[in-house]
Amino acid sequence: MSEQPYEQSDLYKLRHTAAHILAQAVLELYPQAKLGIGPPIADGFYYDFDLGVDANGRSQTFHPDDLPKLEKRMRQIIAEKHSLVYEEVSLDEVRRRLADQSYKLELINELAEKGEKISLYQHDSFVDLCRGPHVAHTGKIPADGLKLMTVAGAYWRGDEKRPQLQRIYGTAWPSKKELKAHLAMLEEAKKRDHRVLGRELEIFILDEDVGPGLPLWLPNGNILREEMEKLAHEMEDKANYLRVSTPHIAKEALYLQSGHLPYYADDMYPPMDSEGSRYYLKPMNCPFHHKIFASKPRSYRDLPLRLSEYGMVYRYEQSGTLMGLLRVRAAQQNDAHIYCSEAQLEEEFMAVIDLYRHYFSLFGIEKYVMRLSKHSKEKLGVKYVDNEPMWLKAERIVREVMLKHDVPFVEAEDEAAFYGPKIDVQIWSAIGREFSLATNQLDFGVPPRFDLTFTNPQGELETPWCIHRAPLGAHERFIGFLIEHYAGNFPIWLAPEQVRVIPITDEQNEYAGQIVDQLKASGVRAQAMLESDRMQAKIRQAQEMKVPYMLIVGEREAEAGTVSLRKRDGSRQNGLSLAALAALVQEKIASRAADL
Ligand SMILES: [Zn+2]
Ligand SMILES: [Zn+2]
Repeated sequence: MSEQPYEQSDLYKLRHTAAHILAQAVLELYPQAKLGIGPPIADGFYYDFDLGVDANGRSQTFHPDDLPKLEKRMRQIIAEKHSLVYEEVSLDEVRRRLADQSYKLELINELAEKGEKISLYQHDSFVDLCRGPHVAHTGKIPADGLKLMTVAGAYWRGDEKRPQLQRIYGTAWPSKKELKAHLAMLEEAKKRDHRVLGRELEIFILDEDVGPGLPLWLPNGNILREEMEKLAHEMEDKANYLRVSTPHIAKEALYLQSGHLPYYADDMYPPMDSEGSRYYLKPMNCPFHHKIFASKPRSYRDLPLRLSEYGMVYRYEQSGTLMGLLRVRAAQQNDAHIYCSEAQLEEEFMAVIDLYRHYFSLFGIEKYVMRLSKHSKEKLGVKYVDNEPMWLKAERIVREVMLKHDVPFVEAEDEAAFYGPKIDVQIWSAIGREFSLATNQLDFGVPPRFDLTFTNPQGELETPWCIHRAPLGAHERFIGFLIEHYAGNFPIWLAPEQVRVIPITDEQNEYAGQIVDQLKASGVRAQAMLESDRMQAKIRQAQEMKVPYMLIVGEREAEAGTVSLRKRDGSRQNGLSLAALAALVQEKIASRAADL
């Protein structure tokens, strides 16, 4: 079945109307304010304002006690139950009515250029250039389900060269209870922030001299990466993928052929010149895999051909959008390209969807939503390859596969890759925080650009379809998600340090060393704390690093050849033989168990 997209939901309308009410309240407090845009977002809404400059020419900002003031006024507007009135207007009319709103006039000019219909939404004294949708009247918003959260700077249209506006973030929910639950989740999310835990657990750092969005993985973080990659290897081996490796840069000609330069240049790093050629850092691995496909004649017997690579890609994300590991400029993707005939599409596409679901259950991801991201007719030839019939066909194929296999999904326009539609997956962490993760893309656009062909059973040349998939997304993003999902309490198989041995006194140091050697020999990541700190201090240190298993060894254990196991969750098991312990740890690792 297909589910209703957020953009058409009541929650979306409620938040959109809340944004309009906020703008009204701001205009009453700062009549000179110029309005930017004010859309609903994943868990609330925002509105951007230019408050003008003060006598010294400095940009004005909101005052700390403005938020409560604005919130109070919003509640009054809600209580007054003003209807939201939709109106389509002519260009002259809209330019007259929003004459003092310079940012809106810029948007109006763009709409006019594209020949799009111009509409306004009005309630009470406030009118906005807007397509909707909205709730019927302001009273539909629960006054106690609303909260203004923060103020932040935001460039007009996300462009650093344009003015910096003041963005007020707010949130709105159908009830007070849901608002409270959301605020509690945010409180918990703050404690789990992967940027904080990433530093404390020594997973990654960002360094000014290296550059924004270019994380450095510390030894602990690298173990997480290697474990993820090992998992992907295993799964992809089982599914008959073939692994390849490709370089980080390539000539301009490759990206012209692939379509990246015509359609994707804004997301690429500027080129470098060498020996009379221009080279680009790769934003995607696909063109390289296409070249490998094309490196010899292919027959239908070779298909499906599944090429996989944990490949580094570089994307020039706006500096304002960079965020820890969640949005970076260099990322290693769990990437693969599946070349197949049209008849094989269904099975291959579903195998990828099933792979997603396998990973989600392994990581305890209980809530996820799949979205069919489609092209936009208006942007054909600009953002999307110009072949409308193929877009419709590819979108239909994906839709039918999803429906046939009862995979719930929503649909959204203007979210596709430039070469074809895709399934984007949103996942929710253990505390209900939303992340976007993987994609499964159906590409009809690029194989013909590379003249990819195979010989079909009739002996004719045919163009293959290509499925691009990255179920674990990028290492960076997924590990950022996992840190917050687990609050740093990784399951044993993932934990950078699986076992820490803590001798009670220096007398047991030698025994502790022997335990570590034995565990290491059986593939367990272990270390001993041989400093002469007090035992309690050593335990606290291991707890701070969230090590799943601590082994406390004193005189009694050394004599009996046993250990006292103390798990991260506080449970204990005394007098465990070394062999029993090793077997326990190995079993947890081999089964990638979620529990300790
Ligand atoms: Zn609006
Ligand atoms: Zn690709």
